[in-house]
Amino acid sequence: MLQYPHLEQALKYHFGYDQFRPGQRQIIEDALQNRDLMVVMPTGGGKSLCFQLPALLKNGLTVVVSPLIALMQDQVEALRNNNINATFLNSSLNAYKVRSREEAILSGKVKLLYVAPERLLSERFLPFLDLVKEKIGISSFAIDEAHCVSEWGHDFRPEYRQLKSLRKRYPDVPTVALTATATDRVRSDIIQQLGLKQPSIHLASFNRENLYYEVRPKTKYAYAELLELIRETEGSTIIYSLTRKKVDELTFKLQNDKVIALPYHAGLSDEERSSNQTRFIRDDVRVMVATIAFGMGINKPDVRLVVHFDLPRNIESYYQESGRAGRDGEPSRCTIFFSFGDVKTIEWSIDQKTDPQEQLIAKQQLRQMIDYAEGTDCRRTIQLGYFGERFPGNCGNCDNCRHPKPVQDWTIEAMKFLSCVARCKERFGMLHIIDVLRGAKKDKILQYEHDKLSTYGIGKDRTVDEWRMLGRSLLHQGLIEQTSDGYSVLKLNALSWEVMRKQRTVSLAVTTVQKITWEQGSEKAEVAEILLQKLRSLRKQLADEQSVPPYVIFHDSTLKLMVQVQPQNLTEFAKLSGVGSHKLAQYGEKFITEIRAYRQEKGLQNKSVTSVSSPNSSSSYTELQTLQLHQQGLNIAQIAKKRNLSPATVSNHLEKLIEKNQPVDLNQLVPLEHQQKIWQVLEVLGDISLTPIKEQLGESYTFDEIRLVRCKWRRENRK
Ligand code: ADP
Ligand code: ZN
Repeated sequence: MLQYPHLEQALKYHFGYDQFRPGQRQIIEDALQNRDLMVVMPTGGGKSLCFQLPALLKNGLTVVVSPLIALMQDQVEALRNNNINATFLNSSLNAYKVRSREEAILSGKVKLLYVAPERLLSERFLPFLDLVKEKIGISSFAIDEAHCVSEWGHDFRPEYRQLKSLRKRYPDVPTVALTATATDRVRSDIIQQLGLKQPSIHLASFNRENLYYEVRPKTKYAYAELLELIRETEGSTIIYSLTRKKVDELTFKLQNDKVIALPYHAGLSDEERSSNQTRFIRDDVRVMVATIAFGMGINKPDVRLVVHFDLPRNIESYYQESGRAGRDGEPSRCTIFFSFGDVKTIEWSIDQKTDPQEQLIAKQQLRQMIDYAEGTDCRRTIQLGYFGERFPGNCGNCDNCRHPKPVQDWTIEAMKFLSCVARCKERFGMLHIIDVLRGAKKDKILQYEHDKLSTYGIGKDRTVDEWRMLGRSLLHQGLIEQTSDGYSVLKLNALSWEVMRKQRTVSLAVTTVQKITWEQGSEKAEVAEILLQKLRSLRKQLADEQSVPPYVIFHDSTLKLMVQVQPQNLTEFAKLSGVGSHKLAQYGEKFITEIRAYRQEKGLQNKSVTSVSSPNSSSSYTELQTLQLHQQGLNIAQIAKKRNLSPATVSNHLEKLIEKNQPVDLNQLVPLEHQQKIWQVLEVLGDISLTPIKEQLGESYTFDEIRLVRCKWRRENRK
C-alpha cells in the first residue's frame, strides 16, 4: 500500500491534478484507514475523487450507489478516460452485457462498480456480491447523493432506506456517504439511516468562491441585457424560467437573435428532453433555456453562466440551481433578474395553496428571497447565513461588494407616495397609486376622478420602476401594509404617518441599471484567444470521435493552461494540471502538434524537437499499466506476477518509463546507496557496456539495478 506522501503522486498519475481541493486529502486518508465517512461538500467541491482515489489504492472492489443512470454513465465515462477500470450495472443493459460485466468484476479487473440501490439490494444481486467479497474483496461502499435516504431531503428515495441492510450483511466493509445537502437535519438523518459507525465527518464550507453573484432589476431592457450576457460569456449557459410557456417563448426569441438555444421542460417528450440535454452536454448547443426540472443529474463542470430570468422559489433552491455553474472551479457567473411582477405571480400561486402551514412557509421563503434580491449586503453573507455559516462579507466577487449601491434619501418621494395612498382612501393597489402619481390618463383614474386629486401627476419625474422600487421597499421596511386578500390593497399604518409628518426619513438602496464589465472579457489577448479556439475544436473533435462530452477529454482550465504555457514537448505537457498519465499518452502529441502549428503560423519560435517529443516517446499502454502498479507500491516481481509477464519485461518497461520522464520512483526499486554508487561509477566510466560496470560494483549489485539507474543517468545527461 502506498504511503500518504505519495497521495499527490497518485492524484497526478490517475487524474492529472497537482493538488487536492480543500478537505479531499484528509478524507482520503481516513478512507484508507477504513473509517466510515460522512462527506458534506457543496456541488463542485470534488466529492467523487474522495472515493475514487481510495478505490484505486485499496484492494478489492468499491461499490458506488448512485440514484441516476445519467450520473453513473457520466462518471464511468470520465473514469475510463483516465484509464481507470470502472463500470456500471443498471436497467439500461441487456442480460448479456450484465453477465460479461459481472465476469470482469469477478476477475478482479474492475476497481469501481456503480449501481442503483434497487439492483444492489435485489435477491439476485446480493449473492453475487457475496461472491465478489469472497473472491476479490469489497474495499468500500460509497453512497452518493446520500440525502436521498432522508425524508427531510428534497429527493427522498425509499430504496435508499434499505441500504442499511448492507451494514448488517457486510459489517466490516467501510461506508462513505456523500452529499451536498446543507441542512443539519438531513445530515444527522443520513448518519442514522445508513448506520454509520463513528463516522469521520467532513463538512466543507459552502462558499463557492469562483461564482460571481449578482441581481439585476428586470426592467424592459432585461432581455437585451440577457442577450449581452450570453454573448459575452464564453461557454455554456443555463437560463431558468418559471413556466413551460415562458421557456418556449424565451427560446424562440433567442433563436431569432441567432443564439443557439434549446428548451427543456416537462412538456417535451422524453426523447426530445434527453436529446436536448445530450446536445448541451456535448457542447453542440451553448444555451439551455429550462424550467428548474433541468440540472438534476447532469455533471457538466463547465457551465459558465446561470441566469434566473424569473425569481427562484427560495434561497436553498437558488443556491443549488446557481451552483450548477462553475463546478470545475473556473470563474462563472450567476445572475438573477428581479422584478416585483414576479413576486406578485409567486404570491398569487402561494395563495392557491390550501394548507395554511405550507402557505406560511412559502411566504416566509419568498420573503427571504426578496430580501436577498433587494439586499445591499454581500450576497455571500446572506446566502451562507441562511445555511448557518458565517461569512464576514467583502467577498469582492458579488455585485454588492464590487459596486456598492448608493443609499439615497427618498423621504420626499415616500411622502408623496404615502399621501397619495391616503388621498385614494386606502382602497387601491400599488399600480393604481403609481398611475395617479405619474398622471396617467387611464379609465380607472377618470372613473374615480383621481385626476382631480392634489397628488395627481406630482411624480412624473420618476419612472414606474422607480416608484415600484420605493413602494416595495416601504413594504419591506414596514412603513406601509398590504392586504393579503388577493387584491393587495395598500394600507397606512402608524409608521406611514410618521413619515408623512416628517418625523421619520426614508432611505433606499438604489439599483441603477449599471453595465458591469465582466472580468472574463477584459485583458483577453486576442492571440491567446485564437489558440484557445483551436484547442477547443480539437477537443470537440476528439470527444465526438468517442461520443463523450468534451470536458471528459480536458477541462477548460487545462486548455487555458495549454494556452498560457504553450508546452512543446511531452515533458512540459505532462506538468499541466489536468494531464494524468493516460491522457498524456492518449492526447499529448495531438495537442502539442496543434500548439506547434499555431506557433509556426504566428512566426513564434518552436523549440527544437527533442527526443522527448518524438512520436515513439509516448509510453505504450502496457508500459503505463506497469507504471500504475508501480505507483501502487508493487515491486518488479509482484508486477510481473500480477501482469503475467516476465520480470525482465517489467524492468524493461520501467527503464523506458524512466527515460521518458514518467513518474517512476527509483527509490522504490533501487536502494539509495546503490543508486549513489552506480551513479558514481557511471560518471567515471561513462556509458559503457554493463559487464565492466558490474565488475566495478561487485556481487551485491544486480544488472536490473544498474540498468534502471543508467536510464535516469542517461536522461539527466541528455539535457
Ligand atoms: P461534486 O460531486 O462534489 O459536485 P465532482 O466530484 O463532480 O464534484 O467534482 C467537480 C469537478 O472538479 C470535476 O470536474 C472534477 O474532475 C474536478 N476536481 C475534483 N478534484 C479536483 C482537484 N483536486 N483538482 C482539480 N479539479 C478537481
Ligand atoms: Zn460579496
